[in-house]
Amino acid sequence: MRIGIISALFEEQEGIVDDIVNKSVVVHGKREYTCGQLWGCEVVCVLSRIGKVAAAMTATILIEKFGVTHVIFTGVAGAGHADVKVGDVVLASQLVQHDIDASPLFPRFEVPLTGRAHFHTDRDLNQHLAAAAASWRVHHGLIASGDQFINDGERIAALRDALPDVLAVEMEGAAVAQVCHELDVPFAVIRTISDNANEEAATDFMLFVRTVAAKVAYEILKTTLTRLARSRNPGP
Ligand code: SAH
Repeated sequence: MRIGIISALFEEQEGIVDDIVNKSVVVHGKREYTCGQLWGCEVVCVLSRIGKVAAAMTATILIEKFGVTHVIFTGVAGAGHADVKVGDVVLASQLVQHDIDASPLFPRFEVPLTGRAHFHTDRDLNQHLAAAAASWRVHHGLIASGDQFINDGERIAALRDALPDVLAVEMEGAAVAQVCHELDVPFAVIRTISDNANEEAATDFMLFVRTVAAKVAYEILKTTLTRLARSRNPGP
């Protein structure tokens, strides 16, 4: 097992890379891939930067060049549902690209010629992540990704109308999901809610990523990887 760990921004992965031992850094395609062992697991950590193309490129390189067998994306997201609050954790059971629309040739949200709109995450990884996130309020369900930072109450309301199950909105997860689906690699996406995707989103987002995001990601990943290492290599 070798786990690829992706975040969009430095603040979402801060501190995690510092704990990697036997570290080697490879620069490829204008990104730094840090390889080594983290809390008992073989890992490759990387920052994708923001957006679906950046995330798809990063996931593909992780799988094809670095041979990762599993992918975990960790970061922040805007709330997409009235029950989901800033500081809560959303663990994706499936992801959709909310800005893909080739209608009337294909149904809205369907990725053309794949026959699907929703991409499912891995049950096993999710179980470990959910157990690790037990100190937070965790929601399980649909995350929607698109190439827009949503900071408009009307836009998020329209998105909710079109996709009533959506729990959170962000800009990378569904791209990673499509790549992992096509390459048959189990993956998970876990997001802490930084804002309400409304007019205050930019301010809330900045404050949250600076102060809380890295701590949550660090705690959840540390427990998850420790559990995964133990489940693969149980002691006496
Ligand atoms: N102004 C910011 C832009 C960050 S984009 C900057 O200069 O850094 C927001 C990032 O957090 C993306 O990676 C996305 O996945 C996530 N995100 C958080 N809240 C979001 C929202 N309301 N809409 C879309 N993406 C959001």
